[in-house]
Amino acid sequence: MRIGVDLGGTKIEAIALDAEGRELARRRVASPSHDYTQTIEAVRALVAGLERELGAARARVGVGTPGAISSLTGLIKNANSTALNGRPLADDLARALGREIRVENDANCFALSEASDGAGAGRRVVFGVILGTGVGGGLVHDGRVWVGPNAIAGEWGHNEMPPRGQESLPDTRCYCGRRRCIETFVSGPGLAADHRRGAPGAAPSLDAAAIAALARAGDAEAGATMARFYERLAGALATVINVLDPDVVVLGGGLSNIEPLCDEVRARLPAHVFSDALATPVVTNRHGDSSGVRGAAWLWPA
Ligand SMILES: [Zn+2]
Repeated sequence: MRIGVDLGGTKIEAIALDAEGRELARRRVASPSHDYTQTIEAVRALVAGLERELGAARARVGVGTPGAISSLTGLIKNANSTALNGRPLADDLARALGREIRVENDANCFALSEASDGAGAGRRVVFGVILGTGVGGGLVHDGRVWVGPNAIAGEWGHNEMPPRGQESLPDTRCYCGRRRCIETFVSGPGLAADHRRGAPGAAPSLDAAAIAALARAGDAEAGATMARFYERLAGALATVINVLDPDVVVLGGGLSNIEPLCDEVRARLPAHVFSDALATPVVTNRHGDSSGVRGAAWLWPA
């Protein structure tokens, strides 16, 4: 039996999968944010609870986490749940659970889940895209996560947004310290901020889903915001396709629920991709919010 654990900012979720990837049981608890020791204990208790419930012992456990494991130090880096940064998460979990634990970046878990039995199943090179509070991505090659020496493979969100045509981009600042990161334009907060810049009279509380709904209802300013968003997203994704030429691009994260997203991106990509025709399928994920926790379980072979 395999257990996947997803360390989210608001909840920690665990799932047990059988060899075919069928869900056997699921548990979740509120995330003890900012407290590292309680996070380790919460994971231990979730795994023990699932094993008790299913009458199993010593399941293989994979954990999806924000950030990545530094190849230099073995410690977590780049996590937005900052209590994890600088901690030897894999070692501490292994000690708490008394077994070897596989730990992987949550966007990589998303890509692995979709490559294993989701929207990218059967494809050799799968690029999984997270469009949510942040912009991330993961790369799976022949069913295995491609990590890279810096543990940043697939992390396209902190490249500079390519300006398309004559567009002069706003001078956005990113939490990473750089300017005009892709994330500051095509994340949920990035889209909302762009709408506030383009429509100063709009309600400042509008989030990405509300702006997309307004655009569908015919609001001209929201429509213009969404057009900029789709165009920038297509231009930024094209830089990944031009380098990597993946067999499929799977869209995930909260913004992937915006209904015309896939169609809009597919329609706009050919203008940016260095090819006579675009042969790359761009698809919506199959497992939705469960992709991260399922992918963590898939870190172990069936
Ligand atoms: Zn950045």
